[in-house]
Amino acid sequence: MSGALARKLCRRLKDAGHSAYVVGGWTRDTLLGRPCGDLDLATSAHPEQVTALFDRVYPTGIAHGTVTVVEGEQPIEITTYRREGLYSDGRRPDSVNFVSTIEEDLARRDFTVNAIAWEPLEDRYVDPFDGLADLKTRTLRAVGKPEERFREDGLRLLRGMRFAATHHLMPAPGLEDIMSATNGALHGIASERIEREFSLLFERAEQPSIGLNLALRCGFFEIVLPELLPLVGQAQNRHHAFDCWQHTLAAVDAVPSGHVAVRWAALMHDLGKPHSAEEHEENKGEFRFFGHEKISLEQARQIGERLRFSGHRRRRVEGLVATHMLHPNDDWSEAALRRLLRKIEPQNLDDYLLLKRADIRAKGTPDVASILLDVDEVELRLRAELEKGSALSRKDLAVDGRQLSAALDRPAGPWLGPLLAHLLDQVIEDPSRNDEETLLRLAKLWLEL
Ligand code: ATP
Ligand code: MG
Repeated sequence: MSGALARKLCRRLKDAGHSAYVVGGWTRDTLLGRPCGDLDLATSAHPEQVTALFDRVYPTGIAHGTVTVVEGEQPIEITTYRREGLYSDGRRPDSVNFVSTIEEDLARRDFTVNAIAWEPLEDRYVDPFDGLADLKTRTLRAVGKPEERFREDGLRLLRGMRFAATHHLMPAPGLEDIMSATNGALHGIASERIEREFSLLFERAEQPSIGLNLALRCGFFEIVLPELLPLVGQAQNRHHAFDCWQHTLAAVDAVPSGHVAVRWAALMHDLGKPHSAEEHEENKGEFRFFGHEKISLEQARQIGERLRFSGHRRRRVEGLVATHMLHPNDDWSEAALRRLLRKIEPQNLDDYLLLKRADIRAKGTPDVASILLDVDEVELRLRAELEKGSALSRKDLAVDGRQLSAALDRPAGPWLGPLLAHLLDQVIEDPSRNDEETLLRLAKLWLEL
């Protein structure tokens, strides 16, 4: 469908005397037979010429020579051929310079597989850096001199990490060493862009561990996520086949792609382990990690703040990290399962179970299958409990603060909070207590104590 759209737009530009190509991820992903993202065109036309040719055009990146054309519902970015000016700060080009050929434009791009242009009217490729060959052999190769390209823009290091994982690309010989040698360029990268690259890795890669291991080998974490480093080599105990780092990566991989917040939580769930590790006195090499989830939560908070997670993302990730050590089993009473649902909050049950199953799989021990069967059983019971619609939060109680204050003839005040918490405990213990009369009786009893 986008192929037809690309032809339509390129035809319009060509009829007006300009050349135009489909570039970037769309060309790359079509060649690989993968689902494509945004359609990006590069053209010899200048922005004002593009603007004159289409009805719905928005100057979305005019400083970079980009306008967005909207056709139907689809936005298409059209950028004038350009090279980038000098980089004085390793982050942003100082100026944008238009150039006249697609070849010059392709030369500013980061990796060869991202520097292939497709001319849709003649079905012809422009491929000055052998990106087509690199796509075939799944090779990650920088356009031009890699040292210079990474130093110019440290974001390319993180993009390389991401493409290695999402597209199963092997760094070209020597590239990894250069990525290590130039990792200082990461210091200049804005937190939001760091967060975005990891989130895209989690969104799209089946095995984010490919990228995370590359980042570890290249020394990226010292700069962008130092909290991860103590996990490396931290031994665990008989319940685990892997050290903390390998376990963490296996857990991230075991959460299906697309579940970005759960994968962030998997990355951070055991951060506190190295800081709480206690070696068993007799069994040397066996470690216990009491209360590690509290330290993990503290570090997850710091990371979320530093990388500017949205409030929504922070709440989800922190909630998952905080509750990952709650291990319900089939011996739990229904009241205990309701208490668990209250802690994780019903809307987070799916995420909680995704992380739980990933954490179990990532043990790598022979009993994983049987532990997962227990989770299946507990899940059925948790869902049955939700179906019943039992009260799990204060707003589900048959009385509210106003009714209590009127019935007990006391002005509303701080005494209401603990009372409502007590009533919820009572109702979670026994849902049949959730009617006005019983709750008022329980409230009076509690106040007399
Ligand atoms: P996707 O959109 O699937 O994440 P993409 O390759 O299309 O991948 P975009 O960020 O949409 O990535 O960028 C479009 C193209 O612009 C890239 O394919 C690449 O050619 C070029 N590009 C993007 N970021 C950089 C960069 N930091 N340095 C050099 N070229 C870049
Ligand atoms: Mg793109």
